[in-house]
Amino acid sequence: MKCHDHNDSDAVSQCCDCGRGLCPQCTNKWSIIICDACNYQRAEKEKKEVIKNIYITIPLFFVGLFFLSNSASFVSRIILGYIFAGLPWGWSALNKITPNVFLFLPIGGWVLYFVIKFMLSLLIGAFALPYKAFKHYKTYEEAKKIQGFIKSNAS
Ligand SMILES: [Zn+2]
Ligand SMILES: [Zn+2]
Repeated sequence: MKCHDHNDSDAVSQCCDCGRGLCPQCTNKWSIIICDACNYQRAEKEKKEVIKNIYITIPLFFVGLFFLSNSASFVSRIILGYIFAGLPWGWSALNKITPNVFLFLPIGGWVLYFVIKFMLSLLIGAFALPYKAFKHYKTYEEAKKIQGFIKSNAS
């Protein structure tokens, strides 16, 4: 088998996504063994994932913003919006660390479990949000860089 991008070179490996042959140069190009076309696709998917997460966060921010009555101060409403926006991050962080030990609880136990988990999610989310936002920004920038690199190589 020959390299997909270099017809004169023998393939020494295959792209982990599409199975195309890759020469030594192409094999060592990225941190994983992947062809340019597939890496571009992966970067595109990562970018979409970041945007999707932003779309989840923004409505939650507004839920928090309008949760309190108008008499509440604007600052406290902003803070609540911020805390609500962090809810998905807190929830997913908890999902990773809580094993399903509560599976055989009676219904009251389930309600209590979810109330506690909800409260903890808000708390953890408030701390996780800046970190996650930073990480998402990095992921997005990295994906953009990969795509720019592949594009400039192709032309
Ligand atoms: Zn591929
Ligand atoms: Zn090659």
